[in-house]
Amino acid sequence: AAKAAGGGRALAFHPAMRAEVARRFTLSSQVRQLLGHETFDVGRLEIRYQPLVELHSGRVIGAEALVRWMHPEHGLLSPDAFLGLVNSNHLDTELDAVVLNDVLTQLAQWRDQGLPMLPVSVNLTRDSLEDARLADRVLAALAVLSLPTSVLHLEITEHDQLSTDSPAQHTLGVLDAAGVRVYLDDYGTGYTSLEYLHRFPIKVLKLDRSVVTPLDAGQVHLVGAVNAMAVALDLEILAEGIETPEQRDQLMSLGIRYGQGYLFSRPLTAAQYAQTALAVTDESVPFPRPAGESA
Ligand code: C2E
Ligand code: MG
Ligand code: MG
Ligand code: MG
Repeated sequence: AAKAAGGGRALAFHPAMRAEVARRFTLSSQVRQLLGHETFDVGRLEIRYQPLVELHSGRVIGAEALVRWMHPEHGLLSPDAFLGLVNSNHLDTELDAVVLNDVLTQLAQWRDQGLPMLPVSVNLTRDSLEDARLADRVLAALAVLSLPTSVLHLEITEHDQLSTDSPAQHTLGVLDAAGVRVYLDDYGTGYTSLEYLHRFPIKVLKLDRSVVTPLDAGQVHLVGAVNAMAVALDLEILAEGIETPEQRDQLMSLGIRYGQGYLFSRPLTAAQYAQTALAVTDESVPFPRPAGESA
């Protein structure tokens, strides 16, 4: 590292830029340690659970698993800060494996504690989807823990635009047939064709936050049209990034049934999610529960 930093070309960098380059270089090698087999103290990955709710009742229907890196110097890093580095180090499948394993282990623990088995959806990278062994691995992991396939939902992102000859089509077909629901994430930001929705076993469209924020006149028409299409194709819609009651009400009036966003809850630690969302056994009580009522 001393040699690289001492190189003449580095002098062309502004000091702040140089520090940023050094920071990214370090973080990149730490990503390799984090997901590789080396045992340095570079922190660990943790999962946050963000409740997914039925809009009209406020009932929690499940959660999305969102990964965080508890970094020894930088604190809690969000995916935007490190997923690019995971990808450039070709560690996408390793990351997904860690997240899946964590989530399934957690689900088994909740089951053992007698908590309700609400499904958790896990985001997958394109590399995992294109790995022909994914379906077997996921189904084997569920079987080892005696978990029903219905507890796991998978999110594929619209940006990945999987091709017809991609192994992902077979993989998702196998998982869908086994009872694992597939969501199309970030819907409305890319160029998904009807043919694509037909070819992959997608059950739910997750409307991207950018489509509902702001929910102005133009966006309202768009959401209305997407909803009409979803009804025709027998797809559910879940709107992401709902932050205000107005947004929620407007989405409901457009026919959207499910949502996710800070209005309902931020992503929670496993313990917080279990104590709040999973502990609400009376389904008529909306989430979050009125102040003073929670355990
Ligand atoms: P995503 O799958 O679209 O996840 C939704 C993102 O929106 C999350 O960001 C969530 O914290 C955020 N969000 C939820 N509600 C609101 C809201 O009301 N307002 C605002 N402003 N944001 C909201 P996060 O956790 O930073 O994740 C970013 C992206 O990183 C995810 O987007 C997903 O594409 C990726 N990601 C996260 N966890 C994983 C993972 O475990 N594996 C993989 N492969 N990708 C992941
Ligand atoms: Mg997602
Ligand atoms: Mg999303
Ligand atoms: Mg999104």
